[in-house]
Amino acid sequence: MSYLVFCERCGEDDNLVGIKDETGILVECQTCGLLWKRNLQPKCEKCFSSDVYPAFEAVVLKSRGTQLSVESSKLIYLCEHCDIGRLKEYQQSNSPIMPRELPNS
Ligand SMILES: [Zn+2]
Ligand SMILES: [Zn+2]
Repeated sequence: MSYLVFCERCGEDDNLVGIKDETGILVECQTCGLLWKRNLQPKCEKCFSSDVYPAFEAVVLKSRGTQLSVESSKLIYLCEHCDIGRLKEYQQSNSPIMPRELPNS
């Protein structure tokens, strides 16, 4: 689930597909069919500050047993005010940071 993008018509935040075109990224809601242009000026959803920084977050899947495996990474935005801990972690490690919530059994 992404907290960055959601459908303004039906509130769907999961069943969304991004479509790239020359002008940017379009997002299509698979639930109600609304198509809109993704806001290129990201803002923090908690404090509405635009002091956010792109970062990569690991997409972690639970594999066999108790092992967690990093499947891929996704682009997220970290707020300088709300996510300072994770932002520092990302800047220091320079590799995808772990998601806040890990899948559990
Ligand atoms: Zn929708
Ligand atoms: Zn914030």
